[in-house]
Amino acid sequence: MLPKLDSYAALAVAVGVNLQPGQPLVISCPVDCADFARLIAEKAYDAGASEVVVRWSDDNITRQKYLRADDAVFDTLPQWLEKFFYEHADRGAAIISVFAEDPETLLGVDPNRIARWQKASHAKLKDYYERQMRNDFRWCVVSAPVDAWAEKVFPGREDKNAALWDAICRAADLRGTPEETVAVWQDKVKRLGGFAEKLTAYNFTKLHYKNSLGTDFTVGLPKNHMWSAAGELAADGVRFVANIPTEEVFTLPDRSTADGVVYAALPLVLSGNIIRDIRLTFRNGKIVESYASEGQEFLDAELDLDEGARYLGEVALVPYHSPISALGVLFYNTLFDENAACHLAFGEAYPLFTDVTELSKDEIAARGANSSMTHIDFMIGTPDLSITGITADGREVPVFADGDFAEL
Ligand code: ZN
Ligand code: ZN
Repeated sequence: MLPKLDSYAALAVAVGVNLQPGQPLVISCPVDCADFARLIAEKAYDAGASEVVVRWSDDNITRQKYLRADDAVFDTLPQWLEKFFYEHADRGAAIISVFAEDPETLLGVDPNRIARWQKASHAKLKDYYERQMRNDFRWCVVSAPVDAWAEKVFPGREDKNAALWDAICRAADLRGTPEETVAVWQDKVKRLGGFAEKLTAYNFTKLHYKNSLGTDFTVGLPKNHMWSAAGELAADGVRFVANIPTEEVFTLPDRSTADGVVYAALPLVLSGNIIRDIRLTFRNGKIVESYASEGQEFLDAELDLDEGARYLGEVALVPYHSPISALGVLFYNTLFDENAACHLAFGEAYPLFTDVTELSKDEIAARGANSSMTHIDFMIGTPDLSITGITADGREVPVFADGDFAEL
């Protein structure tokens, strides 16, 4: 294994979930990445974990299930699985997910089976996901190569797994020893946090996006929204970083205010399928028209999951010249691709406000936050993207010019 993986595993434990002595850790991981899970477990015990529990998954078995299992199983989440999530959340466990999949693992699967399974799981895990969105517990998403994914990113290359590991390590800014890497990340948290603070201070009422791809779109932001970045605060007051890598600065939109047309800049992997050339038209916040040159049925199935799926839940800014887009690698994995480009997400919103931390579900909704069982980031940033912020007194402030942050 590459020596840098030691740093990645250490980073996930120390900075990602910021594991505290005596705390349990849950790792969810594909069986193909077992070596990496073992390394994370080792770092977790080094940091004083009370117990490390692993939930394994496997693309091949998942695909077989979608193609061949009894139809009825897609409508119920088994009780033991529901219990697994709540029990660990109640125990105060931290969660590390190794997000790695064949981007086309569900190619040819009935989108209806996928949608029914999502609905069945969400019906039982709604509270759990809400707790995650408001950072009730600390969680972190990392990644590692699996063969079919590496083949998609580096087709035909004999050393594809090593090449993907290398790209992941560069994207995650892994430099030197674990201690040096942790220091690099502490700087990153500070730098991104600086942008978030400046944006929050403007308290923009609206953002206007424009580029030559055809995107011409405005979206409102709720009053006293807060921009966030790497280095969020969990409910217990301990800082953590939810994604490694991360380059985004993000907030929530006002659900009923998006208007115009948005063109995706990169393909999106959704439900084990690749969706290309997405174009979405918004009216009064709602996606009233959707198009994709490939995989449209999977996009539409996602948008039809519930009422909130057609409204936005996240607005995220990522400079075109971010370290990840500079790699010039299309990862076909949202953890990386969303950090290479400005993106939006349709679905559930993160409740991010400056004036309150604890709000009921109804209060959050009254402030314009969207609610849905899904949350899908899609990338819209291009080298010529401009974003203008409009303040409450009508001032127009350049936020992005030519794909990067303007002087804020
Ligand atoms: Zn995001
Ligand atoms: Zn997101």
